[in-house]
Amino acid sequence: MIPLQTRKQEETAQELDKMLNSHRNWVYRLNKTLICGLEPTNEMVATDAHVHCAFGHWLETRAKELDLDAATLDNLVNRHKKVHDLARDMALTVSSGGTIEEALYDDFLQSSERFVGLIEAAYDALIASINATDPLTGAENRSLMTVRLEERKRLAGSKNNKAWVVMIDLDHFKSVNDDYGHEIGDQVLKGFGALVRDHIRSDDLFFRYGGEEFLLCISGVTENTVARVAERLRKASAQKTYKVKGDGELSVTASFGIADLTAHAELSGAINAADSAMYAAKRAGRDRVVFDQVTVSAS
Ligand code: GH3
Ligand code: MG
Ligand code: MG
Repeated sequence: MIPLQTRKQEETAQELDKMLNSHRNWVYRLNKTLICGLEPTNEMVATDAHVHCAFGHWLETRAKELDLDAATLDNLVNRHKKVHDLARDMALTVSSGGTIEEALYDDFLQSSERFVGLIEAAYDALIASINATDPLTGAENRSLMTVRLEERKRLAGSKNNKAWVVMIDLDHFKSVNDDYGHEIGDQVLKGFGALVRDHIRSDDLFFRYGGEEFLLCISGVTENTVARVAERLRKASAQKTYKVKGDGELSVTASFGIADLTAHAELSGAINAADSAMYAAKRAGRDRVVFDQVTVSAS
């Protein structure tokens, strides 16, 4: 039931947690070696220890799943290497009978803490993203909706380009539950969420607004483009079929209302306008796209 993206994020968060523990254990072993004057192991002195430790290996092979930008990832890789380089300096100093300079130890501790801080920030961002995702449809839930939409409104206004809110409500959805059961209703919601996510750009925002109501925010496009996007979604929804018991299948249409986010002084005004347009689409017969005041597509 849980969307693939969320499951991957959960796995990545778990792995990050494991890696943090392994890093902490490694720091513990290193400190013990330094303080008790033990023989340093290969994981402390090898010139490529940063590549072979569990974290280094993970950074190389899996970190791309974190969805980090290249600069942040570079920063992580470099910090991790620095921690190992400083550890090697300290281990070699002790094993040759020398004393570690205070500045070297401070540098090591700070580097290690910064590195851990970067990983914890990535972990927190993943958890926030998981928590903000509706597990059934993969859309964002409403927890951050207002903040995210206000930001889009501000950005669109400042660049003098438009942003749109599209309210979507599945048609006669109650009868899907009544006729086929709640589980099939859930399958339809899940399929509809996947369909929308397949049709929009990664930059677009997609929220589950309520039970079978969704809200899209599409920025940086003209009225014609947002109308085309909504129309494509409408058609795809109507054409999609869902399996029901036996050989049967069903399809579910949706009604769309679009409002110009930048033309309204308040975010709530734009959302209400999109909602009114969506209800106008319902009144006009459903399975259609209606602009705030202007009907664009009547099928
Ligand atoms: P309209 O075309 O006017 O929108 O009719 P409708 O039947 O879609 O509208 P109505 O608001 O009467 O019904 C919405 C239904 O959506 C009722 C509710 O039980 C169902 N629903 C809401 N959330 C969920 C969910 O998570 N799972 C399932 N299976 N059903 C849900
Ligand atoms: Mg409905
Ligand atoms: Mg509804």
